[in-house]
Amino acid sequence: MTVRVPAKVNLQLGVGPVRDDGYHDLVNVFHAVSLFDEVTAAPAPEPTITVEGPPGVPVGPDNLAVRAALLLASHTGVEPRVALHIRKDIPVAGGMAGGSADAAAALVACDALWETGLSRETLLELGARIGSDVPFALLGGTAVGLGRGERLTPVEVTGEFHWVFGYADGGLSTPAVYAECDRLRTGSPAPWPVVSDDLMAALKTGDPLALGRALSNDLQPAALSLRPPLSEALTAGTSAGAVGALVSGSGPTCAFLAPSAAQAEELATSLSRVEHFVTVRQARGPVTGAVVI
Ligand code: ATP
Repeated sequence: MTVRVPAKVNLQLGVGPVRDDGYHDLVNVFHAVSLFDEVTAAPAPEPTITVEGPPGVPVGPDNLAVRAALLLASHTGVEPRVALHIRKDIPVAGGMAGGSADAAAALVACDALWETGLSRETLLELGARIGSDVPFALLGGTAVGLGRGERLTPVEVTGEFHWVFGYADGGLSTPAVYAECDRLRTGSPAPWPVVSDDLMAALKTGDPLALGRALSNDLQPAALSLRPPLSEALTAGTSAGAVGALVSGSGPTCAFLAPSAAQAEELATSLSRVEHFVTVRQARGPVTGAVVI
């Protein structure tokens, strides 16, 4: 049973003040793009995990796909007799929620393999227990996520958008980026974030120029502070014709919006010369969430 699952980019990531439980209230506008991991679930005497792709992915109980399979097994009362195999194409610790995507894919793959027939609502609820980005990887498309990002409302989008992603060498730890965000904000508390009307209007009309202008990421200053060369990399994209450029989530992957498919091709060629990027990839969005292939 093989499930294909997309990466996400945050079109808006509004980070509110720190809550009493240590988390931040977020306004997230998630957008699923055509960079995919694949998770295969096959019958096996005991749970195992293998990973094909870049280093840095745990191959044990810490892997989010394993946690998802074990959670689904305990919820449904089946024995977790599964060999999971992940083919990774989403950058690791890159701000594109690759680990959460694998957890979502494992839920869908094991539900199909074990014929447990769970409803979409139950899968979303189990996903939220693993991590706040997991429900969106199940859903895909474009959606507003409130709370810690897990309370999702789909957003209407006209047409599709053309993106170029620059993968940086080495990841950034999400908790470290939030800690840097808090440090930079010391003495000037953040306002409560609200969904951007300009962003919603741009998505509805399908206008890439308006979308480019409306992109925002409150974690970007922190990611740039921890990885200064990213500033220059973003500027290089704008100079090469991107109508929008931002750090994806907690970074360090950078997302560039092209005005058309043809211009995405040219933009990718220009960005492949940027020293900070080890890989440059084109993608379109929105795409659907985790599906059996
Ligand atoms: P986010 O955008 O949700 O903050 P990210 O894209 O920055 O996440 P991930 O690739 O999801 O980061 O991984 C973050 C960490 O999670 C990794 O460094 C790794 O230790 C751990 N991890 C656990 N399971 C996985 C998995 N299946 N794939 C990738 N990383 C995983």
